[in-house]
Amino acid sequence: MQPNDIQVIGEELAVKWGDGTESFVRLAKLRKACPCAGCKGETDVMGQLHKGPNQPYSLSSFRIRSLEYIGSYAIKPVWEDGHASGLFAFDYLSTVADSPGDE
Ligand SMILES: [Zn+2]
Repeated sequence: MQPNDIQVIGEELAVKWGDGTESFVRLAKLRKACPCAGCKGETDVMGQLHKGPNQPYSLSSFRIRSLEYIGSYAIKPVWEDGHASGLFAFDYLSTVADSPGDE
């Protein structure tokens, strides 16, 4: 699914999808769903999960400085605390938006 428009509105990411529906994802929820190796860990060929130490979040961890579009399949939020290695493919973004829980 492709978004027509993505904007940060207050503490939420507002996504307008190509089919006319809209999703609102709280930025804190989005950050905690960051799929990058540093946040989610990486599985090696032996199936072992390697994960860095949990980074403490701060208020700036839940604010987006800017959004970069990666081709036509993902966005990369640049967080105010400098974190910018998480690519949110649109499919994943839609999964996060639909998942239960507010954060
Ligand atoms: Zn991350």
